[in-house]
Amino acid sequence: MITIPHRETTEEDSMRLTAQRAPRGKHRKITTSQTKGRVALVAVAASAVSSAGIGGATAATLQAQDESPASSEVTTVDVELAANDAALSFDATQVAPQILAIPEYKPVANVDEQLDKAVEYAVERTEADRAARAPSVVKPAEGIFTSDFGMRWGSLHQGIDIANAVGTPILAAMGGTVIDSGPASGFGQWIRIQHDDGSIAVYGHMETLDVSVGEQVTAGQKIAGMGNRGFSTGSHLHFELYPTGSGAVDPTPWFAEHGITF
Ligand SMILES: [Zn+2]
Repeated sequence: MITIPHRETTEEDSMRLTAQRAPRGKHRKITTSQTKGRVALVAVAASAVSSAGIGGATAATLQAQDESPASSEVTTVDVELAANDAALSFDATQVAPQILAIPEYKPVANVDEQLDKAVEYAVERTEADRAARAPSVVKPAEGIFTSDFGMRWGSLHQGIDIANAVGTPILAAMGGTVIDSGPASGFGQWIRIQHDDGSIAVYGHMETLDVSVGEQVTAGQKIAGMGNRGFSTGSHLHFELYPTGSGAVDPTPWFAEHGITF
């Protein structure tokens, strides 16, 4: 059974209470209510512990001890004493076993926090890794989109055309390895780049070539200067995309997937 320590009313208490609660002569009633205030505080502390799953019975016991009838006058004093005397009235030794259990709870909360942070960090890392590995795609040349992928003049136009002045920079749409760079029938000159995902891009009609076979290029790297060589009616880039290395497809959806429109 937990006992509630009684603290004698001190001279200081009497003076303060006298000052607060004139007229004189009500000291004795205050002694009782002071004890009651202490009981109330301990009960509150025990309730807090029980909310963490401990000490429900203790709280009940403490409340059961508080059987002294209270008038409304005494209740008012309780509140004042609880406020004034909080530090003194809270006797931690009476509920020490319950309070000592609290640190066992704190590390659990901390672990949850750490796990959340670890998961957060892992997600960030995964996203960063994915972004680093993901094929970055850029627009291969600035200019006017002059021809779509599809049938043209009775034959399949296997790529897209972007027209601009001779010498306009042509950039690698995606990083990879240069597998061709030089003269080619119809293209005048071409560059073929095999990307890391196996797909191949073809660039045609260039005036100047900046890369050689075997060279590694990154997306956005200048690989050539636009031209009008080969079967061409004006300075433009002819661009083809072979997703599996063979069989050209319309590259515009591929560009669109990477946020590039013409
Ligand atoms: Zn073309």
